[in-house]
Amino acid sequence: RKVFTNTPISGPFLLSPDDTRHVMTVLRHRVGDTLAVTDSTGQTFSCRITASDGRQATLEPLELLEARQERQGEVILAAGLLKNDKFEWVVQKAAELGVSRVVPVQMAHCVVKLNDARRKDRCARWQKIAAEAAKQCGRNDIPQIGDVVSFEGLVRDYGDKPFLIPYERETRPLRDVCASVQTGDVVICIGPEGGFAPEEIALAEARLAACATVSLGPRILRAETAALAALSIIMYERGF
Ligand code: SAM
Repeated sequence: RKVFTNTPISGPFLLSPDDTRHVMTVLRHRVGDTLAVTDSTGQTFSCRITASDGRQATLEPLELLEARQERQGEVILAAGLLKNDKFEWVVQKAAELGVSRVVPVQMAHCVVKLNDARRKDRCARWQKIAAEAAKQCGRNDIPQIGDVVSFEGLVRDYGDKPFLIPYERETRPLRDVCASVQTGDVVICIGPEGGFAPEEIALAEARLAACATVSLGPRILRAETAALAALSIIMYERGF
């Protein structure tokens, strides 16, 4: 597995306790060794281990080994909060499929309601899952988990990008709009178990400059299935 740090590398930095254990115990590195570390922007540096207190190692970057590969645009998954561990599963699979960012959305029909303290906890856990998934599948960057936002907040914060909304009441097939999302940024927005509130769709259509509601077929998919089906199709269209 690759060694990552979840921040951009611009000077000496601390490795997380998990990565420190991996580097010092599993890979058996010692203070003074050099190793390749990829940062959150996808750049890989040769770094020297300058100190370790057993829990966290300090590294200093020596030289840039691999510059960031320019993306054709970002695929962002905005998804309604889901019950149990389903959102974790979506984060993991979305990271494997190549999203740049996952935005958890507290929508009107979400069964799950998170208070402020639990939001912080959950986001930290989802970020960890995204980082693990990125390492496992050999990505050069770590998808970022946004703060939990309301649907209105989502439209406000990401409204400069085109939205593609798989909507259970839509009949226009996704295939009909695929050509328009082959390059550039796109936000794929999936409803929660209870689906979208009609007012959310109305808000998106009224406020967003570019917004397409689409069907994923005649069957109602579970939210997590819909997220992965839509992502897989979009990634295929973009040449992965
Ligand atoms: N409770 C809703 C209902 O009974 O109509 C179903 C919601 S579905 C479980 C969760 C989300 O998955 C939807 O809001 C939508 O984003 C997406 N979805 C599921 N099936 C879909 C389909 N056939 N076409 C488009 N989107 C779909």
